[in-house]
Amino acid sequence: MNIAHLLGRSALLHAHRPALLHGDQVLWSYGTLAARTAALAAHLRTYCGVAPGDRVAIYAANAPEYLEALHAILWAGAVSVPVNYKLHAKELAYVLADSGARVVLTSEALAPAVREAGAPQDAVLVFGSEAYRAAVAHTPMDVCDRAPHDVASLFYTSGTTGRPKGVMQTHRNLLAMTACYFTDVDDILPGDAMVYAAPMSHGAGLYNYAQMLRGERHVVPRSGGFEPAELVQLAASVGQLTLFAAPTMVHRLVDHVRATGADVSGFKTIVYGGGPMYADDLRNALAVMGNRFAQIYGQGESPMTITALSRAQLADRDHPRWAERMVSVGVAQSLVEVRVVDAAGQPLPTGETGEVVVRGDTVMPGYWNNPNATAQTLREGWLYTGDMGALDADGFLTLKDRSKDVIISGGSNIYPREVEEVLLLHPRVREVAVVGQRDAEWGEVVVAFLVAGEGGAVPGAELDALCLEHIARFKRPKEYRWVEALPKNAYGKVLKTELRANS
Ligand code: ATP
Repeated sequence: MNIAHLLGRSALLHAHRPALLHGDQVLWSYGTLAARTAALAAHLRTYCGVAPGDRVAIYAANAPEYLEALHAILWAGAVSVPVNYKLHAKELAYVLADSGARVVLTSEALAPAVREAGAPQDAVLVFGSEAYRAAVAHTPMDVCDRAPHDVASLFYTSGTTGRPKGVMQTHRNLLAMTACYFTDVDDILPGDAMVYAAPMSHGAGLYNYAQMLRGERHVVPRSGGFEPAELVQLAASVGQLTLFAAPTMVHRLVDHVRATGADVSGFKTIVYGGGPMYADDLRNALAVMGNRFAQIYGQGESPMTITALSRAQLADRDHPRWAERMVSVGVAQSLVEVRVVDAAGQPLPTGETGEVVVRGDTVMPGYWNNPNATAQTLREGWLYTGDMGALDADGFLTLKDRSKDVIISGGSNIYPREVEEVLLLHPRVREVAVVGQRDAEWGEVVVAFLVAGEGGAVPGAELDALCLEHIARFKRPKEYRWVEALPKNAYGKVLKTELRANS
């Protein structure tokens, strides 16, 4: 079994079921989606000279063709390279060169950027073009055989900590991730629908496999992106809607629902992850939208799968330890082992903070063409995540920060997240990011970048007083800087590297 079989299997079992909706309109059944995919795969092999193991990039915003393009690459036995469509042509050129992509599938709007990135004309296939229409009508081929350890996808890290690296994700990695979705995150029931509001080139796209295996509906919003009003309307018309969203998106959706009083009964589950969800924001989200949340903690190197706080665990508000658990990232997912270790790689006792390491079937075999980075990250069978955290006696993991973001001031470790949680308690602080700034005396000092909410900026002394109420004096920011917006990448993650450069 390889990951490409999921679509074939569903098409065999439920050819007439709706597979893909564009907005609330059914576009293709499973039978049609599989036929188009098998045809496009044959086109890639025959006309584009793609051989098994060759890389094929997708550089596109969310669109119905995205899903068939992704599956066609796998069906042909090739390696998919999903590229964030918001990357600049120069960054795209880097990914194309690094991966050695043979063909790029793209949309009409982005085709000029692909050409600017240096892709030869005959290596570009544009969604909806005449050539594309011919490709999806080609004589279909059977799924190409691949072994579980063969690479299925090169998944470029979002580059919050440096140049993007190509994570090799094997068929086994993706199948294990898919199995974990059902056991650790949420079940997929008859009539469910997965909506792709976050970029399909990242986490949201990875969850298509679980939906594909169950043979339920995939929904691509007409806007191709994350529009709270559109999502609420889609939930009402499509029903049983699940979405994967970064915490910043959850924030926007919850604000919209609170402001409009919209009916949210059409949302089944909102899976959040990919960045920290602050306790106050989660409490708010649960109050406004009810028990329809699940959390995952993962990274490209162990796709979507390190720990999870399932929908059931988050909904279990009568549990005596619910309050502590809801601010954790949950427990190890079923097919992985998670430990917290010291600098020498030795497991730490319960409650102590160290680096989170993980091993299991979802863990990548390494980075593409980057043995040095692989050797630093994979040690003695464990993936070193670069995240700091602590496990409790029941195995619930609380994340502190990325090790690179930890501030060392006067020899003491300060976890920015702890300071951020406190500053967010102020009703006039809407967003915050805390970073370390070089300092001759202390090594580093704490600087807070803040975005004001209603009522505008607050005097530093008031924030100082708030910090002194909750955390040790030395953790208090030495400087508060109010900004219009925090720098974020396409997935809504705050770019602390940029803030540090400006501090
Ligand atoms: P790069 O590796 O290039 O810096 P990145 O950090 O954005 O990019 P991703 O794989 O996109 O890499 O994101 C994974 C990281 O996101 C995790 O290592 C962790 O720091 C953070 N993260 C993921 N899920 C959660 C979560 N539920 N809570 C807090 N942080 C999370």
